[in-house]
Amino acid sequence: MSLTRALVPFADFDAHVASQRAEIDAAMKRVLDSGWFILGPEVAAFENELCAAVEAPAAVAVGSGTDAIELALRAAGIGAGAEVITSPLTAAFTAMAILRAGATPVFADVDEATLNLDAAAVEARLSPRTRAIVPVHLYGHPADLDPLMALARRRDLVVVEDACQAHGARYKGRTVGTIGDAGALSFYPTKNLGAFGDGGAVLTSDLEAAARLRRLRNGGQSDRYHHEIAGANSRLDEIQAAVLRGKLRHLRDWTERRRALASLYHAELRGAPITLPVEQPYAWAVYHLFVIRHSHRDALVEALAADGIETLTHYPVPLHLQRAFLSLGGRPGDHPVAEKACSEILSLPLYPELREEQVRHVAARVRDLAAQL
Ligand SMILES: *Cc1c(COP(=O)(O)O)cnc(C)c1O
Repeated sequence: MSLTRALVPFADFDAHVASQRAEIDAAMKRVLDSGWFILGPEVAAFENELCAAVEAPAAVAVGSGTDAIELALRAAGIGAGAEVITSPLTAAFTAMAILRAGATPVFADVDEATLNLDAAAVEARLSPRTRAIVPVHLYGHPADLDPLMALARRRDLVVVEDACQAHGARYKGRTVGTIGDAGALSFYPTKNLGAFGDGGAVLTSDLEAAARLRRLRNGGQSDRYHHEIAGANSRLDEIQAAVLRGKLRHLRDWTERRRALASLYHAELRGAPITLPVEQPYAWAVYHLFVIRHSHRDALVEALAADGIETLTHYPVPLHLQRAFLSLGGRPGDHPVAEKACSEILSLPLYPELREEQVRHVAARVRDLAAQL
């Protein structure tokens, strides 16, 4: 390894692959030997195993988390002319999925304590064209769904949960992604459950919606070469499904490990001059990311990098101020809580392969450096 390699890298894919190399090789070989590569027995088995793991009545595997959000909206009849309210503090793909469905994203500010969608802010952005809400379970922390679901029921709105960072997280005991009308998961390689390529899934308890999703993901075909609607090309491949089946068996252990390391960060950082993430009483978080806040974030990031500690910022620019979405009319000051958070947040390394002494080292350096800035 080169000398420039970070002492504590933000992710360690080599260690991740090494820990399950034999299983992965066997899974890939099984697919190569089968000669079937797209939407086959591995995908079907993965969908069933995923349902059991996250306690969802139905799961439909698709090409990515972005596609999962788009297709869940389309399966619910959301498209042109509809407004869909979501958070400005999320991956840009959340809003792109809404646009891809043909609808218009409308941003509502987040709650200061959780950085998840604030139901009062959502209510303030309702219009006669509002058709859906896409709450995001940011960093693996469940959004407070009860007020959002109550609002949605009152206004007859569809709720598609963006659970792309929250595989297996629980809200009041229920798995997120199964509480709204549909939930979207991403299997992007760095997610808590990651493929070795792109992948995603829609969870739903509406079996008719699941049937529509199965047609939508495969060109809108009812029968081979008979296209009922212009669907998408968003099919999970057999190699990714086989890999995901193997990894799914470790998800529970990996999540416990993430939670244990997060507890260690909490213990080691208690009283430090930073803001720590808070697990709300209603939440069982899966810590996709461990995100802290500091008013001199950029200086802290630089000082940590100089010490060989890699951090990232999720995300530096709120969506209403991203160039891609400026045509929606966003301006600085529209969503002050999200805007301030974007200038203060940084994500510390957190993954199952991270060692306790690395967490202690990172926490000690954060504590020292944050006090000096
Ligand atoms: C990763 C992610 C997505 C997009 O998932 P892809 O699989 O990369 O398309 C959407 N929303 C959130 C919150 C994400 O973290």
